[in-house]
Amino acid sequence: MAWFKKARKPIVTPAAATSRVPEGLWVKCPECDTIIYTKDLVKTLSVCPKCAHHFRLTAAERLRSLFDDEQWVEHDAGLASNDPLTFTDTKPYAARLAASRKATGLKDAIIVGAGTIEGLPAIVGAMEYGFIGGSMGVVMGEKLVRAIETAIDRRMAVLIVSCSGGARMMEGALSLMQMAKVSAALARLDRAQLPYLSILTDPTTGGVTASFAMLGDVILAEPKALIGFAGPRVIEQTIRQKLPAGFQRSEFLIERGMLDLVVDRRELKPTIARLLRFMGMTPGAPANQAANPAAGR
Ligand SMILES: [Zn+2]
Repeated sequence: MAWFKKARKPIVTPAAATSRVPEGLWVKCPECDTIIYTKDLVKTLSVCPKCAHHFRLTAAERLRSLFDDEQWVEHDAGLASNDPLTFTDTKPYAARLAASRKATGLKDAIIVGAGTIEGLPAIVGAMEYGFIGGSMGVVMGEKLVRAIETAIDRRMAVLIVSCSGGARMMEGALSLMQMAKVSAALARLDRAQLPYLSILTDPTTGGVTASFAMLGDVILAEPKALIGFAGPRVIEQTIRQKLPAGFQRSEFLIERGMLDLVVDRRELKPTIARLLRFMGMTPGAPANQAANPAAGR
């Protein structure tokens, strides 16, 4: 005899369709089922030409889409996590790191690059979802803080393009500390009177949303991006109710004052440049010459 019975059926969530452009010559848009030639998708920055569905970009594709001539100088490429807790869940964290490094060619879930956007000097941190869900660990925190300090030294704007499931659980409290660390660095940037634009892409959740992603002087988001603290699945399982359509999506959040702008990816670069000019940035020499003194430390 069962002592406890589940009165209600558990919520069944359909397996999420992957948003990344798959390998191959043709790709089917998950929104409108149009078959698109992959090379055409490159021209539209991975936006469906028919329904404007935004496929997820890799960190490198993101930087290419933003910087002039698709050129930037990478900062702190060598920083890598040393698995401080020797953490193991279903498999060792060290093995996850090794697998992600092999799959993405990156050392951690973010690329920081310096260059110009319509001539304006900027340093951009772009997250790589393919690396343990774009999770924020000590490396991401450190790279962002160094990027902000570089921006203060050389009078550049800071852009952070978030694409992350949140804090990296395998680094425990150390990953949570990055929230305070990056936020404190942004406060110094603010005192230096330099702009910080936060760009939220699908998905931006957890500790990233709860800290620097929401601290932008202007907060921009791509259309239909999932933005929240806890994900909809967790909320549904906690309150045992179905959430309204469009909950935690950009268009839902801008109506409630969480965001400043929802911008189509094809308009993102000119919009960013306009905002930076409005905030007083002037065209300058690309901040490319000197290598970051902190690199490889
Ligand atoms: Zn489509």
